[in-house]
Amino acid sequence: MTFLEYAPAPESTAILDIKPSYGLFIGGEFVDARGDAFATISPSTEEHITTVGEANADDVDRAVKAARLAYDKTWSKLSGSERGKYLFRIARIIQERSRELAVAETMDNGKPIRETRDVDMPLVAAWFFYYAGWADKLEYAGLGPKPQSLGVAAQIVPWNFPLLMLAWKIAPALAAGNTVVLKPAETTPLTALLFAEICQQAGLPEGVVNIITGAGSTGAALVAHPGINKVAFTGSTPVGRSIAASLAGTDVRATLELGGKGANIVFDDAAIDQAIEGIVSGIFFNQGHVCCAGSRLLVQENIHDDVLHRLQRRLQTLRLGDPLDKNTDIGAVNSKVQLERISALVDAGEAEGATRWSSDCVLPDKGFWFQPTVFTNVHTSHRVAQEEIFGPVLSVMTFRTPEEAIAKANNTPYGLSAGIWTEKASRMLAMANALRAGVIWANTFNKFDPASPFGGYQESGYGREGGRHGLAAYLEASDQKAGGR
Ligand code: NAP
Ligand code: MG
Repeated sequence: MTFLEYAPAPESTAILDIKPSYGLFIGGEFVDARGDAFATISPSTEEHITTVGEANADDVDRAVKAARLAYDKTWSKLSGSERGKYLFRIARIIQERSRELAVAETMDNGKPIRETRDVDMPLVAAWFFYYAGWADKLEYAGLGPKPQSLGVAAQIVPWNFPLLMLAWKIAPALAAGNTVVLKPAETTPLTALLFAEICQQAGLPEGVVNIITGAGSTGAALVAHPGINKVAFTGSTPVGRSIAASLAGTDVRATLELGGKGANIVFDDAAIDQAIEGIVSGIFFNQGHVCCAGSRLLVQENIHDDVLHRLQRRLQTLRLGDPLDKNTDIGAVNSKVQLERISALVDAGEAEGATRWSSDCVLPDKGFWFQPTVFTNVHTSHRVAQEEIFGPVLSVMTFRTPEEAIAKANNTPYGLSAGIWTEKASRMLAMANALRAGVIWANTFNKFDPASPFGGYQESGYGREGGRHGLAAYLEASDQKAGGR
């Protein structure tokens, strides 16, 4: 196929004012980190963006103490409507600065500007608006007449939706009256640091939000700190498991949002072209770095060849390249390490006998890239059918009956998401009842709303974020407040 060439349409980075280095945001101000400084780079160009500080155990201690002081002295004393005013203010500033935040996120993470501009940032603002509205209505959350905040929340987020995961964590915590210490991922600290500036701009009382940058050891020190009352973690299942082990025997509450291997199930009565778009957004949105990605396609056997043909034709039209270009569909993989993980699992897929097809887009010389890839002839025992690849790689399997689709979809240690494509509402409901997944979409995929709870079964973790359920994770139903370890 030949296509007309597109002229480059890069978003300008002039709107950004990135400092050459950032400290930690503790007690309302930026302070020097005691650990070693490290760089954050752009995964699409490998260029240095800025230098950030690594929080060591002493820094973690300072941050937790600042959060405790703020909790005791100010935040827990404010009325819900006063807390709500700050959250509304933060939400409005996010909207005002959304272009700047979108550019920063695209540079630091590698995801297309079309996504940061049209998905991430609108959702970040929506999350703060939604929970701002709850702040003065906690007694109507279904948790009794006087739900109590927990205290200091330790929050750890991954690199795939850096600012959105921050919003999922900080908005409900603050609305419920907790203070927070948040650690962004090592490769994507930039928007969390800009968020710290937004807290200053909003006049948020000092110490209510503390942002500490660093790697896994900073996160481990944070969850091991004796002064915290709650851990909210989003990341991989192995790290989630180690956090659960470190919290065992304490009364620190935990929410773990972990990995997934979502099944996207297409029946032969589905609107096929619509389903193709859902398959594409299910696994190629955000380069497949999505915990709830539809990474396993289950397609009814009699339409397999037709679906594959249309899917491959559609994938050939996806534009991979400069994520700041407004025409780009597929950006860079977030890091060299992640690219190596994807490559290793794709090699394993080929070695185990699955058939690999990749779109023939040209990969740039610099940066970390992977072509949209589809595996067919996949067996349920193959690693590409069982393990989370967290990249733009789809594994296709077939089924004949709804029962077989359910058995195959549920044949995973995870249980985060699933999709159903059919014209029959009765089939949608029957399937949804039988699928062991926290979020199930019908005739759509990867749709998010702050009012809707999100979370997993089995190795996808426990607890819910979003909606009233997400608020409950930061509140004690009785007057008995958690007392730490
Ligand atoms: P990860 O390695 O588990 O990292 C997640 C966060 O935990 C990062 O901030 C990381 O710091 C930190 N961390 C690493 N080791 C730690 C330790 N021992 N103690 C405390 N914190 C530690 O996960 P990832 O590879 O960055 O993210 C991808 C995973 O996240 C995927 O499995 C994906 O499915 C999952 N995810 C789940 C959801 C959900 O809602 N269920 C959403 C998004 C992503 P560093 O950055 O320095 O390593
Ligand atoms: Mg980076």
